[in-house]
Amino acid sequence: MPNIEAASPHTMNTYGRLPIALDHGDGVYLWDVNGKRYLDGLAGIAVNTLGHNHPKLVPALQDQVAKIIHSSNYYHVPNQEKLASKLVQISGMTNVFFGSTGLEANEAAIKLARKYGHDRGIARPEIVVYEKAFHGRSIATLSATGNEKVQKGFGPLVEGFIRVPMNDIDALRKATDGNPNVVAVMFETIQGEGGINQMRIDYLQKVRALCNVKDWLLIIDEVQCGMGRTGKWFAHQWAGIVPDVMPLAKGLGSGVPIAAVVAGPKAADIFQPGNHGTTFGGNPLAMRAGVETIRIMEEDGLLENAARVGARLKQTLARELGGLKEVVEIRGQGLMIGVELARPCGVLTQRAAEAGLLISVTADTVVRLLPPLILTERQADDIVAILAPLVKQFLAE
Ligand SMILES: *Cc1c(COP(=O)(O)O)cnc(C)c1O
Repeated sequence: MPNIEAASPHTMNTYGRLPIALDHGDGVYLWDVNGKRYLDGLAGIAVNTLGHNHPKLVPALQDQVAKIIHSSNYYHVPNQEKLASKLVQISGMTNVFFGSTGLEANEAAIKLARKYGHDRGIARPEIVVYEKAFHGRSIATLSATGNEKVQKGFGPLVEGFIRVPMNDIDALRKATDGNPNVVAVMFETIQGEGGINQMRIDYLQKVRALCNVKDWLLIIDEVQCGMGRTGKWFAHQWAGIVPDVMPLAKGLGSGVPIAAVVAGPKAADIFQPGNHGTTFGGNPLAMRAGVETIRIMEEDGLLENAARVGARLKQTLARELGGLKEVVEIRGQGLMIGVELARPCGVLTQRAAEAGLLISVTADTVVRLLPPLILTERQADDIVAILAPLVKQFLAE
C-alpha cells in the first residue's frame, strides 16, 4: 500500500500512526495489507486478551451477531447478569455497571465518589489522584490524569482532585490532613500510560487501611493492568486487598468494546434509578464477549500462563539488556512489562514494526510490552530476539 500516510484525509489527525494497515490476525501474529507478518507484543494496548481469531471466541461471537447485537437497557440482557456475577466472583465485590470504554468506567467511578460524598452531606467532594496517572480523555478523566500533555488546551479542568506522588503514604496523609471534603483515593495498581509504574504492595495495603479509617472509597483503575494481565485477575489482588470501586475495560472483551465498574458494599447502592446510564453499555454482543473471554481464560489457564510467560519475558529481557548503561530499569508484572531507557526512544516503535514486532513506547522513554495472554515461552523469546538488538543499536547511537 504506497503512500499510506495520505490514505486517511477524512479522519481527524489525532494519532501519530505508523504507516501500517493491519488486515488480519491469528494467535499472536498479525498480517498487514501487504502480507507482512508481525508478532503482536501490544495486543491493541492490552485489549486482545485472547490474541486474534481465537478458535473458541470467534464462533461464539458469530453466533451472537446472528442472534442479537443490541437491544437497549429498556429490556433485560441475560448475559449482563451472567457477566456481572462472574466479575463479582473473581473480584470479591458485589455489583456491576456496564459501559463501553475505559474513560466511561472511570467517569462512572468519579460520579460514584462524588455522590458518595453528597449522600453524606459533603457539598464539594474531592478525590485523591496520582502523579503520572492516566484515567482517560473525557474532561473529568483528563482532569484526574497526571499528564499535562493530555490536559493542555482543554481547560478549565474539572476541580475536586488532589494530586499526590506514588508510594508515599506520608505525602497522602499530609495532602489530605484535616480536609473533610475527601471522599476517595483513585489510582492504577500499575500505571500503564505513565510508564509501567507499580504501586508497592505495602503501600496498597496502607492506602486500603487509611481508606477504611477515613471512610473514603478506594477506587482502583484496573483498565489496563486488570483482566489477568499480571497473573491474577486484578493486579491489586497481589496485595490481598479489595477496592470499593474498580473500573475495567480494555482486555475484558478481548477486542469487543466493553467496560465495567465493579463496586463493593460501600459503593454498590450509591446509584439509584435515573442517576446514571449509557446506550451501548451492557449490549448483548459486548456481554457475550466478556462472558466468553473469562470462560476461555479459565479453561485455558491464562492467568498461570501470563504469570509464567511474563516472568520468562522479564528474565530474558533482563539477561539481554539488564547490564547496559542507559537501561534504567526493567519492571512490571506478568505480561505488562516496561523497559525504561535513559532517553526518549519513540523511534523504537517504528523500528520494531519494520523488524516484525509490534510494541509501544510510553512516557517517552519506556518500551512497553502488553502481548496477548496466550503468548508462549517460545514467542516470548522471539519478542526479545527482535527487541534486544534494536535497543542495543539505539543505545549505541
Ligand atoms: C486506556 C486507559 C483508560 C482509558 O480507556 P479508554 O477506553 O481509552 O477510554 C483509563 N485508564 C487506564 C488505566 C487506561 O490504561
